[in-house]
Amino acid sequence: MKSHAPLMVKKFGGTSVGSVERIEAVADRVSQDIASGQRAIVVASAMSGETNRLVGLARDINPRYRGPAYDMLLASGEQVSIALLAMALEKRGVKARPMLAYQLGIKTDAIFSKARIQSVNKEKLMSLVDEGYTPIVAGFQGVSGEDITTLGRGGSDTTAVALAAVLDDASCEIFTDVPSIFSADPRLVKKAREISSISFEEMMEMASLGSKVLHYRCVELAVKYGVRIHLRSTFEKRDGTWVVPEGETMEAPVVSSITHDPNTCVIKIFPLPAAEGFLTELFTRLTDRNVVVDIITQSQNEEGQRLAFSVTEEDVVAAEDIVRSLLPDTAQISVMKNLAKISAVGVGMRHHPGVAARFFKSLHEHKIPIHLVTTSEIKISAVIDKARLEEAATSLHTEFDLDNEDA
Ligand code: ASP
Ligand code: MG
Repeated sequence: MKSHAPLMVKKFGGTSVGSVERIEAVADRVSQDIASGQRAIVVASAMSGETNRLVGLARDINPRYRGPAYDMLLASGEQVSIALLAMALEKRGVKARPMLAYQLGIKTDAIFSKARIQSVNKEKLMSLVDEGYTPIVAGFQGVSGEDITTLGRGGSDTTAVALAAVLDDASCEIFTDVPSIFSADPRLVKKAREISSISFEEMMEMASLGSKVLHYRCVELAVKYGVRIHLRSTFEKRDGTWVVPEGETMEAPVVSSITHDPNTCVIKIFPLPAAEGFLTELFTRLTDRNVVVDIITQSQNEEGQRLAFSVTEEDVVAAEDIVRSLLPDTAQISVMKNLAKISAVGVGMRHHPGVAARFFKSLHEHKIPIHLVTTSEIKISAVIDKARLEEAATSLHTEFDLDNEDA
């Protein structure tokens, strides 16, 4: 007999399953939710620290290797956590069934370590649910042919949204160790406040701007399939933050959050060689070494052409090597480290002019030098000295009326 109890995909992150005690606490929560009338599909990450440990082992053997063995290794952490969680649920009288990606037909492409989900065997999943089981699904992994693949670090979120996307009428809850999304990182901005709802677009910008709240691909999938996500605390019952389509957010301030990425370096070059095709050559070489370039600015006057671009600290050495190998000794190359990117994000920017003016005014009043700037329709970002990050975030937070006055 089919049940019409609400169907919830519940994803628990690494810290939520980080120890036996926490796994027991998650099992308490899930069994209570089931007792209160929900049907659940659980997705779990590896126990916290485990995936990093596995990456470390692989690196010790061969730092350059990527391929089936690497993904097989990394995917093993989730196998442990789902088995333990299933045992903890069984102990509470819940019929739980731990499921690896191959058992559930989570099929992906063959791009190891960055695989994309192509399909999920929905019938298999629903037949378990209809038989009264709670499937406990390994996040982060998929299968391509006979190989195990992984979805990229933080990919369990994506597994959860993909499951919710294929099921009709399923809701998606992502449980984590923070109670909600904040208007800024509370460790940086004392007056940061909780956000009750935020749009997909804003969440995508935040994910790509360095906020570690949700995996970028997961938000992309949520947009594509209209999956509303409820981000909430594993250990508190209250509501957290809803990530929903634009127009459904309850609050619609011009700027909804101040986000930052403390891991930024800038390389400046002057003058660029006049040779045609130089930029193509430079960026092709960077791509070949897997250097991810973020902001790029280029300008030209009578004295010549200037270029500046930003990369992460992990990539700066490779980027500098490439630049030096392509440029004559006479070119000035400066490599600026210890920088951070600070951004204001908000869909309200689309309709309210003057955000850039307020952004610059606020940084200017605090005499915070800006090294690079970039904008999109709904965000403005500046690269500044890391030492000024807290001051910049706090002043922008106040400027855009985000302060929680009770804090
Ligand atoms: N365990 C994987 C990681 O640490 C996936 C995840 O946690 O979402 O990246
Ligand atoms: Mg995560």
